[in-house]
Amino acid sequence: RTILKFIVGGNIEGQYHEVIYRLMTTDGLTQVHNKRYFDEMLERELSRAQRYGRTFSLIMFDIDHFKKINDSAGHQGGDEVLQQIALLIKAELRLSDALGRYGGEEFVVLLIDAGLPPALVVAERIRASIAGQPIALSDGTALAVTVSIGVAELSSADRVDEIDKTAQQLVSRADEALYRAKENGRNQVGGAP
Ligand code: GH3
Ligand code: MG
Ligand code: MG
Repeated sequence: RTILKFIVGGNIEGQYHEVIYRLMTTDGLTQVHNKRYFDEMLERELSRAQRYGRTFSLIMFDIDHFKKINDSAGHQGGDEVLQQIALLIKAELRLSDALGRYGGEEFVVLLIDAGLPPALVVAERIRASIAGQPIALSDGTALAVTVSIGVAELSSADRVDEIDKTAQQLVSRADEALYRAKENGRNQVGGAP
């Protein structure tokens, strides 16, 4: 099932493979992992957590009233907001954590070795960082932007032997927590029920 091929670094074919790999795994606008790559990473992390008895958490972000941001700043301005939000989230993470763009204006973070309490702390720190500073756009204007956040941790009840199902369940739980954060007024973190 595996084919290994050695390619000398710096040659044209090696560079080509690197470019293709980057295009396939990275979101072009924000330069964070794309959804496909993030989903693969999530399944790998589930296997690892099972094997070594570790845990981890998922944090889902959805920008509040992003349609209004697009309406007032234009699609270009909206794109710049997405780029800056990605940078602000990344600034609060460790190198071992992973950030992905999960949908139009949705981001997701995989927080390695963190259960729910520390994940909630990180989520709140990111929420406060984004809400605490207006986002400067290239046209000289600045916008107040907030995000709603949902957090879920891998629980011992999760059946890790069915990796893809467990991954979906974890994403659904984070999504539900995010939905509660929206329902409760946005610009807040929703934890597990
Ligand atoms: P809510 O607070 O309920 O999340 O409100 P919302 O306006 O953010 O609602 P929703 O999540 O449904 O809106 C997402 C919008 O994001 C709709 C779509 O036009 C916009 N969008 C999706 N992808 C992109 C993108 O790549 N760039 C820009 N500028 N806008 C995008
Ligand atoms: Mg959305
Ligand atoms: Mg939104």
